[in-house]
Amino acid sequence: VFANVAQAPEDPILGVTVAYNKDPSPMKVNLGVGAYRTEEGKPLVLNVVKKAEKMLLNNPSRVKEYLPITGLADFNKLSAKLIFGADSRAIQENRVATVQCLSGTGSLRVGAEFLARHYNERAIFIPQPTWGNHPKVFTLAGLSVKTYRYYDPKTRGLNFQGLLEDLNMAPSGAIVLLHACAHNPTGVDPTLDQWEQIRRLMRSKSLLPFFDSAYQGFASGNLDADAQSVRMFVADGGECLMAQSYAKNMGLYGERVGALSIVCESADVAVKVESQLKLVIRPMYSNPPIHGASIVATILKDSSVDKAYVFLCFLREMYHEWTIELKAMANRIISMRQQLFNALSARGTPGDWSHIIKQIGMFTFTGLNKEQVSFMTREYHIYMTSDGRISMAGLNTKTIPHLADAIHAAVNR
Ligand code: PMP
Repeated sequence: VFANVAQAPEDPILGVTVAYNKDPSPMKVNLGVGAYRTEEGKPLVLNVVKKAEKMLLNNPSRVKEYLPITGLADFNKLSAKLIFGADSRAIQENRVATVQCLSGTGSLRVGAEFLARHYNERAIFIPQPTWGNHPKVFTLAGLSVKTYRYYDPKTRGLNFQGLLEDLNMAPSGAIVLLHACAHNPTGVDPTLDQWEQIRRLMRSKSLLPFFDSAYQGFASGNLDADAQSVRMFVADGGECLMAQSYAKNMGLYGERVGALSIVCESADVAVKVESQLKLVIRPMYSNPPIHGASIVATILKDSSVDKAYVFLCFLREMYHEWTIELKAMANRIISMRQQLFNALSARGTPGDWSHIIKQIGMFTFTGLNKEQVSFMTREYHIYMTSDGRISMAGLNTKTIPHLADAIHAAVNR
């Protein structure tokens, strides 16, 4: 009965790994998927995650019961605190409804399904370009996807004027998807001053912010600095949605652990919103998995231990250890940017490559076109998405000269 089902194309991002896996060349490099690799090119399980897992395993009262529909309560509280800040008024006033979801993607989807049922505006404006899954998630949830200008290929920076014009033209009440930091795929973020202008414009037009935070701590190495855009919007007392992922910043990719928070106008509203989120989640996957959320809660809980105690056991504090490991990952990526820039400068590769060091987060939007990308894959076995995005986290000191040779050759063709 399924004989007429057409062969579907590979996912544009995950398909890069499928092609990479098929290539027998020893020179091959995978810069497609945004997953952190060590200097040795290996996936990394953070030490603090291993410690938390050991603690969980040794806990005799640990069970495998179902979590509630909304997930692990501690995890939800701690996640909201992590992104909105411990001193957030919205949290203190109990105006935030948080539910544990299946990583960033699941949080976006649950948020979108909720909006499609309970919000009066269907239009969601997403940046042009954006992470390839965004339009699919929102369309399938029943929202109507529109774009706003974001990236300027000429400057390889933000098209701030275009962004303001497009948001200004958006219908009042429209939803706007914002990358909290480390915009994927461009690595281009607004400055704090620009964020403030975006905030003012959006609030004046009653546009509803839907933040996607997949890289908190990964951009700058500092969890608070990477949450500043979000906190600016929450501090003004207005509403917003927030999809959080622990895939990158705790390296919990396959554990699928994330959270959706909806900041509401009052505690009463937050209670009702949470009750409706349950109705969205229950028929989709019933309730979320327990293991990843328990790891995150164990690590984050350590930050709320009494300060004097933390001082005494400074070296044992898990939260602190996490921030150090996170900073090390962010710093390694920043150093890869510098090394790639230096390697291209040393080769005298034509063009201005300063965007490699200016862009932020896991990816560099190189500006290489489709033909140049396919040349690099064919001749140099370098795998990346066809839009010229490379994952800086997949590079190391050994692969940088090879990549620089490939870019140099592609540009000089
Ligand atoms: N949003 C953005 C911008 C992303 O880059 C990603 C991961 N590539 C996600 C959301 C979701 O990732 P996950 O579902 O693995 O948390």
